[in-house]
Amino acid sequence: MKKIRIREKCPICQLSLEIDLNEVNKHIIVKECPAKHYKKENHPLLGTTFEYYKDNDKSNERGVGLDA
Ligand SMILES: [Zn+2]
Repeated sequence: MKKIRIREKCPICQLSLEIDLNEVNKHIIVKECPAKHYKKENHPLLGTTFEYYKDNDKSNERGVGLDA
């Protein structure tokens, strides 16, 4: 599991997000909070970005762009 840290911050805890280089091999760019609050998936082939927020309260879990 190789990850690189980027300048973009988690909107919840302000830690730097990480890119999972294993996922890049599958033509998906996954930027994720190291504490798992937030995940952004960019699918260049689909031209789509999905954002996921995860709080302690599971009812706030959502994926943006899945079924609007
Ligand atoms: Zn976070």
